[in-house]
Amino acid sequence: APRTVLISGCSSGIGLELAVQLAHDPRQRYQVVATMRDLGKKGTLEAAAGEALGQTLTVAQLDVCSDESVAQCLSCIQGGEVDVLVNNAGVGLVGPLEGLSLAAMQNVFDTNFFGAVRLVKAVLPSMKRRRQGHIVVVSSVMGLQGVVFNEVYAASKFAMEGFFESLAVQLLQFNIFISLVEPGPVVTEFEGKLLEQVSTAEFPGTDPDTLSYFRDLYLPASRELFHNVGQSPQDVAKVIVKVIGSARPPLRRRTNTRYTPLIALKAMDPSGSLYVRTSHCLLFRWPRLLNLGLRCLACSCFRTPVWPR
Ligand code: NAD
Repeated sequence: APRTVLISGCSSGIGLELAVQLAHDPRQRYQVVATMRDLGKKGTLEAAAGEALGQTLTVAQLDVCSDESVAQCLSCIQGGEVDVLVNNAGVGLVGPLEGLSLAAMQNVFDTNFFGAVRLVKAVLPSMKRRRQGHIVVVSSVMGLQGVVFNEVYAASKFAMEGFFESLAVQLLQFNIFISLVEPGPVVTEFEGKLLEQVSTAEFPGTDPDTLSYFRDLYLPASRELFHNVGQSPQDVAKVIVKVIGSARPPLRRRTNTRYTPLIALKAMDPSGSLYVRTSHCLLFRWPRLLNLGLRCLACSCFRTPVWPR
């Protein structure tokens, strides 16, 4: 029988692509429940699903921030039985910390972290009873490494990494697998939404130096990074399809090899300085290096005996 896959956040981006690819599986191994908060946005997904719509793909409403919405959604699935849960829904937040409201920060955690926890709590009893299941989490390289001006978003992804790694230990006993997928930059609406937010935001209470570092150094570097090393949501979805189809799913799977050197810096130096100082150099000293596709990490940072202060 096909496995029931429930995916959150399917109105755009990675979630939409993943839903469509799974629904078109040549071996028809999946019955996809593609969910979104606002069903008014289902047009793009339905068009992309084509003849799979109503066959191997159904669209359902789901707001990961609402208990009622989650309960309602699961009640529409036969027996409430989800074989594969994909926690994809997420929001970003960038900018100088001083200028961001606590409410905006809490919204990031409510969606990215507690949204995933809420869904897991809802599907876990049935998975445990059946002694099978797979929970896939769309994390980020920012779940592995801190990134300047992304403190709260990175923290929400670090929280997911810690939560799911901890849970994985217990769930192995129930034959339930967890996979954290860690993309680098992906060219979706995600970045556009963020840039729109920051273009109108004033970041009250932020000093001029910090504002200028954010607007004149970080934003252009970030834009070019997306342009140069950004992956398509199709490519990221392909990786997730593989993870879902594997007999022994990995706990972690990165999608963009260009990030491996930066992450390796953390492992190379347990004090953490190497990573922080290299990231600092890349932004404040040689922002153009970022644009060489992150392959220039053997920069003089490694060799400079006196670290920049
Ligand atoms: P996206 O904005 O196209 O997709 C995010 C989806 O989540 C949207 O459809 C949005 O409506 C939905 N969503 C937000 N709040 C929700 C809620 N309360 N309930 C249900 N759905 C909600 O962007 P994307 O790039 O496809 O993002 C998907 C995931 O990938 C996110 O978790 C994001 O953190 C992660 N990610 C993105 C990038 C990137 O560069 N785009 C990189 C690494 C990880």
